[in-house]
Amino acid sequence: MKRILLIHTGGTFGMALKDGTLAPSAFVQKILEFVPEVKRIAEIESHIVANIDSSNIGIEHWIKIADVISANYERFDGFVIPHGTDTMVYTATALSFMLDGLSKPVILTGSQRPLSEIRTDARNNLINAVELATFSIPEVGIFFNNKLFRGNRTKKLNIWGFDAFDSPNYPPLAEVGVGIEIYKENFLKREGGKLNVLKNFSDKVFCVKIFPSLKIDYLISLLNLDVQGFVLEAFGSGNLPNIEGRSLIPFIKSAVEMGRVVAISTQAVYGKVDLTLYQCGKDALDAGALSCKDMTTEAALVKLMFLFGKYGDDTKKVVEEFYKPIAGEIS
Ligand code: ASP
Repeated sequence: MKRILLIHTGGTFGMALKDGTLAPSAFVQKILEFVPEVKRIAEIESHIVANIDSSNIGIEHWIKIADVISANYERFDGFVIPHGTDTMVYTATALSFMLDGLSKPVILTGSQRPLSEIRTDARNNLINAVELATFSIPEVGIFFNNKLFRGNRTKKLNIWGFDAFDSPNYPPLAEVGVGIEIYKENFLKREGGKLNVLKNFSDKVFCVKIFPSLKIDYLISLLNLDVQGFVLEAFGSGNLPNIEGRSLIPFIKSAVEMGRVVAISTQAVYGKVDLTLYQCGKDALDAGALSCKDMTTEAALVKLMFLFGKYGDDTKKVVEEFYKPIAGEIS
């Protein structure tokens, strides 16, 4: 029988209602009592890293999870991580970068309704995630509502429906129906190697959503802060204001001159950033901005955190590595 390690971190999955509001509960200790059937799929052990609303997740939790995976890597065939849905894509992306040489499945899952409630989706998500973790899938994935996605390509798109996630610019890795379909052709082509955990992240990044009439002064004042990398979530194919009195181009120019990285992502969900399509994007490109291409804003942010963690102040190196896929996050 395969061996799977459950690494609990929190989220709605293990929450209970307290005065009408969902909060983490002591219930997590009993997950396996609620879903005993997972023991028919694999030998399960569990480890609790945290039991928090995932809004409170940070770099220190990513490191703890990666450490638990690394310490148990040889003993288990796969890892399933119950996690809050709100920041699941950030954790999945971070782990995909940290777990260099990964050859086993690491699958994050969660739920829209707590495991203890009727009509919960937690049970299905957990059972299927555990079953998928017994397959040879060398990826950090997110399993939700019958689909396994590459974690660093995934976005949370639905707060209410059970289909909370989708991976708009990359096909699923597996689907579950009456049977299980594994789409091997979509897996990362990795050289099987030794697991090497990379743990350095910088938190000196900042993300700005661009909107009509955004004051350039606000952006310029950010340059007084110790920010190494900015992600500007722009319009459509990566466009932002470029006319007199409204232009954000001076901000990009100054930031780049000061040795900061400015990367442009999009507010659109499908398709990719192309800074050559419109003058509004081209001016940003000419000013030194990078294009996130088909990377999600979330993946771009975590990638900057990771690259600045790895290369320190070497902006040139960060820029060079930004366009190279680390774990299939960019085409
Ligand atoms: N606020 C919760 C969390 O991210 C939402 C969820 O798990 O669905 O922890």
